[in-house]
Amino acid sequence: MEKMYTSLGIDEDVYRFGESINDSLRERFLQIDETAEYNQLKVIRAMHECRVSEACLQGTTGYGYNDLGRDTLEDVYSKTFHTEAALVRPLIACGTHALSIALAGNLRPGDELLSVSGKPYDTLEEVIGIRPSRGSLAEYGVTYHQVDLLPDGNFDLDGICAAIKPQTRMAAIQRSKGYDTRKTLSVSQIGQAIERIHSVRPDIIVMVDNCYGEFVERIEPSDLGADLIVGSLIKNPGGGLAPVGGYIAGKKEYVENASFRMTCPGLGSEVGPSLGLNSAMYQGFFMAPVVTAAALKGAIFAANAYERLGFDVLPDGAEPRHDIIQAVTLGSAEAVIAFCRGIQKAAPVDSHVTPEPWDMPGYDDPVIMAAGAFVSGSSIELSADGPIRPPYNVYFQGGLTWPSAKLGILMSLQSMKNAGLLRISG
Ligand SMILES: *Cc1c(COP(=O)(O)O)cnc(C)c1O
Repeated sequence: MEKMYTSLGIDEDVYRFGESINDSLRERFLQIDETAEYNQLKVIRAMHECRVSEACLQGTTGYGYNDLGRDTLEDVYSKTFHTEAALVRPLIACGTHALSIALAGNLRPGDELLSVSGKPYDTLEEVIGIRPSRGSLAEYGVTYHQVDLLPDGNFDLDGICAAIKPQTRMAAIQRSKGYDTRKTLSVSQIGQAIERIHSVRPDIIVMVDNCYGEFVERIEPSDLGADLIVGSLIKNPGGGLAPVGGYIAGKKEYVENASFRMTCPGLGSEVGPSLGLNSAMYQGFFMAPVVTAAALKGAIFAANAYERLGFDVLPDGAEPRHDIIQAVTLGSAEAVIAFCRGIQKAAPVDSHVTPEPWDMPGYDDPVIMAAGAFVSGSSIELSADGPIRPPYNVYFQGGLTWPSAKLGILMSLQSMKNAGLLRISG
């Protein structure tokens, strides 16, 4: 084994260090495998109940009327997430698009959207109109209000109740921290917030941005009262195989409302061909519980390795996990660059390219990204990125298999060691 790692450029000290971290995590990884087992059974049971057949793997073109595979896949998502309905489509371009149509389909002029987990994900600022933007909800007369999380990272339940007004129509909760430095919210915490909101006004539509959270726990926010859960198929539920797509699952009326913004009023979910993608979307969803487990092990391995080397990590090495993102504070631009170059070197695709920081649209500082993915931009695959600014955080996520995620972290350590940025003794 060690020779195999040596042939990939991992030296003896880094390998031994990795093994000692690995040994300390056996018990923890067993629990993750059990969650994966549970969730795998949940998906298989849904597939059985929906009588997924070989015919479902075929696709339609054109209008896509009566696409059996597409409609059955949506039933599989509903049964897995215990919702009345689901919209799962390659026509939904990404997570932001899914969230955008869920909001736009359910809000009307004069309604207010209340975010109860603080500032939403960057790309939603323009959807909502927090940053003025053409076509935003604000331009259509939808107002926005936000209640921040408390300093300890919990929901401000009293603040939320006080912020509910007669015009509050939807409440939004973001499960993952995204690129923020807060804690990720657990499904049980989310459930408590939903309960409080619905105790004040049962008719408020609670939407959870579930990106990066699917299958990390045994339950999803829809099991604890969320009216809508929304996510991207190039993250957890696509299992690395879906080449594009998003999903919206929840109450039938609200999912249908979203469908009228995905296509148009009157047509809704009736149109929209699955093209040749049904097979990949089914297989990806089938794989998703174990792929998510692999990514989770990678994140925990990274947290423990970098924590032992003296870096600040979020979440820390021992904390329970509610999403697959790992932040590491590396403290210098050189370290962020070396880390990302190490991740890139472990990728199955484009391992020979060297990532450089660049001025990405929408960001104030240069950003470096490591990604050598089968699906462009996929972040359930091994990937890392970081803005080149203090405190020099890097965000690491994904890994379709645990050994590939482990190699990624070892490569990042080796790359930093080679650049003289850390000292490791086995
Ligand atoms: C990734 C992500 C989104 C947006 O998804 P895209 O596919 O990048 O548009 C929204 N919210 C959170 C929390 C995310 O992690």
